[in-house]
Amino acid sequence: MNKTILVTGGLGYIGSHTVVELQENAYDVIVIDDLSNSSKEVAERITAITKKPVKLYISDIKHQHTLEAMFEHESIDGVIHFAAHKAVGESVQEPFKYYANNIGGMTTLLKVMHQHNVNTIVFSSSCTVYGDTNRSPINETHPVAEAISPYGTTKIICEQILKDLCKHSGFRGIVLRYFNPVGAHPSAQIGELPLGVPNNLVPYITQTAAGIREKLTVFGNDYNTPDGTNIRDYIHVVDLAKAHVKAMNYALTMNQSYDVFNLGTGNGRSVLEVIKAFEKASGTDLPYIIGDRRVGDVEQIWADASKAENKLKWHCQYGLDDMMKTAWKWQLVLGSGSKSS
Ligand code: UDP
Repeated sequence: MNKTILVTGGLGYIGSHTVVELQENAYDVIVIDDLSNSSKEVAERITAITKKPVKLYISDIKHQHTLEAMFEHESIDGVIHFAAHKAVGESVQEPFKYYANNIGGMTTLLKVMHQHNVNTIVFSSSCTVYGDTNRSPINETHPVAEAISPYGTTKIICEQILKDLCKHSGFRGIVLRYFNPVGAHPSAQIGELPLGVPNNLVPYITQTAAGIREKLTVFGNDYNTPDGTNIRDYIHVVDLAKAHVKAMNYALTMNQSYDVFNLGTGNGRSVLEVIKAFEKASGTDLPYIIGDRRVGDVEQIWADASKAENKLKWHCQYGLDDMMKTAWKWQLVLGSGSKSS
């Protein structure tokens, strides 16, 4: 019999791609999503890809009674937890929203899991926990730094809470530290739905090419990198989603109670390299200017992902060109009318 995985935030950007991969790998999936940064239509689009229905609960995970009723009613073997706010800038403006949602939501989820003897969880974290470091490639033994934003604080604290519960309360937890997820499903059925003006590079690029934004500003070209612009490890969202399936396979059978994996390609790319790759993939010239540095940007960071490759038997299949091609294809589906501010 198939195992059943609850995916919180399963209609979001990474969540929806993960639901597809789970369904395509013989898992039954239940999604809980509050639609705060997604829409119900995503469930239909997932079904268009997998030909399988998505069992959907529309609720905030902080609603303990709803969670309890769901765990009573369903037979859940493991949880992949995405539901969280993710805008670094907003977290500085509205820290309590982030503490309540990201930390409060996760503790409620863990409490209800514990009550119902569901103890396997894969948690979506971020390389932001490494803070401002110049040591790349960076592996999982690198110390967790002081957070640069309330968003980062929530990721560090949630990792710590999970670690405690794995040590003392019988949980089996895996933390996945993402580098920079980009791109969209090759079918162009699902992708990122940025709210308002995108903060992230790739949606900003695709919206600029679509005419929604006038031009991209490259945040600084005076860094100590080969072309002066920041370096990041961009990873295709489908590769990332596949890693969650591998992580769940592993978590359900692992001997130890807690483990942490970096998820990146292991290749650092500069902002200018990304722009060039996009221009090539889309056949467009991207209007951009060089601006000031953005406060809080780390100069360069990329992953040592060899632990995930070896232990999870996972390898990235998509390169930068595929990331740009699929991101552009998705933008063409969204069209040029999605300017919300
Ligand atoms: N970036 C940029 N212009 C933008 C958005 C991002 O030059 O409009 C740069 C940013 O300075 C960073 C890289 O693109 O070097 C990736 O930024 P993003 O916000 O996507 O990810 P993060 O900084 O969180 O890794």
